[in-house]
Amino acid sequence: MKRVFRLTAVFALVLGLFSNTLAITWFPKEFTCPIDNEKNTFMVVGSYGSYIYSYPSKYQWLFFPLTDSPTYYICKKCHLTTFMWDFDKLPKEKINALKKILTDVKVSKNFTKYTELPISERLEIMEKVYAVLDQDEYWWERFHRVKGYHYAQEGKTEKAAEARKKSLELTTGFLKNDKSKTPQKMSFYISGAMKHFLSDDKGALEDLQKALETKYQEEGATAEENKNGEAGMNERLKDYIERIKSEKKPRLMDTQDDYR
Ligand SMILES: [Zn+2]
Repeated sequence: MKRVFRLTAVFALVLGLFSNTLAITWFPKEFTCPIDNEKNTFMVVGSYGSYIYSYPSKYQWLFFPLTDSPTYYICKKCHLTTFMWDFDKLPKEKINALKKILTDVKVSKNFTKYTELPISERLEIMEKVYAVLDQDEYWWERFHRVKGYHYAQEGKTEKAAEARKKSLELTTGFLKNDKSKTPQKMSFYISGAMKHFLSDDKGALEDLQKALETKYQEEGATAEENKNGEAGMNERLKDYIERIKSEKKPRLMDTQDDYR
């Protein structure tokens, strides 16, 4: 018994060291709200490693920091909510329009730390905020995919499905458009992923197979980058197809912590 305990302790220590080297770290930083000059303490990313690309969120083509709560900033006073990289970079000419929509925004509870508020609640405010900011359909596709991910994480399956259907609808449009900004191979991956998470595995397998047969071509990328993109995507696609076929499915409720 003693020996087992000791082994376990050593194991935990080694694992601890390992994860310390690779940890995602966040640091507090003060931000001034562009709407009302309120001072807010938000988190900024200190470090992360390339391991984030193998977290299960890859099965929805989503990666850190989109998967993490501190990424979604909300001002404690006026409730302006944005991705962390947009908060203090909003176009000045939109401030008045933003003020107007924020007057109707209410939050479910008072909070000290902004991460106390559910991510999905922050995303719902963001949907109103970004409607003012003239985002294109590629932006919205990813936004709905992100929403689907976080609703599912919070156990809100119906809302997750709704958001994923919107992502799928836009992606289907990109696949019909020769001039799509998203490489076709990636759109097939995303389309397949959304179908899988909407319980249409037949459709998912068809799309993932099509993705495998489509050459990776990103506008502005060098031949080398396209070649690496092709190889990387194919590896991911084969893994995805195999997982669906073998029924070792990526779990819908996967979190980064329980990834094995
Ligand atoms: Zn504010």
